[in-house]
Amino acid sequence: MKKDDCIFCKIANGEIPSKTLYEDKDFRVILDMGPAAKGHALILPKEHAANLYELPDELAAKVLVLAKRVAARMTERLENTGLNLVQNNGEVAGQTVMHFHMHVIPRYEDDGQKIGWIPGKPSQEELEAVKQQITE
Ligand code: AMP
Ligand code: ZN
Repeated sequence: MKKDDCIFCKIANGEIPSKTLYEDKDFRVILDMGPAAKGHALILPKEHAANLYELPDELAAKVLVLAKRVAARMTERLENTGLNLVQNNGEVAGQTVMHFHMHVIPRYEDDGQKIGWIPGKPSQEELEAVKQQITE
């Protein structure tokens, strides 16, 4: 199902033009218009899902296989020496477009980008408590 007011639904389904790298019945892969690095691409499912939680299992399984193929092609054609897959869910996690997408970001020496976090320093007890919270 498409969502009427969703820009990525429109792009994924070809109603708004994009720099398309690849398309099949389930996905369109486009260049990000605000790239972190040369070749930064987005994998968009054609069916609307706001985020990972809403993405049907079948598409969730396919998206990583496709990301792997896109990554391989980029690394063959561009001069990147590394690559990040990034997938944000929720505003607090940096999601700005509420249609599931996977970022494929080729990385270059001295590209000036930093994708990461500040590591915490939890005690063993704190790690145990969160483990229990998740698993029990
Ligand atoms: P996120 O922060 O994970 O929601 O990422 C949204 C991404 O979509 C950003 O990297 C934007 O640059 C990109 N973006 C937003 N609108 C468009 C558009 N019309 N075409 C291409 N990329 C877009
Ligand atoms: Zn959508």
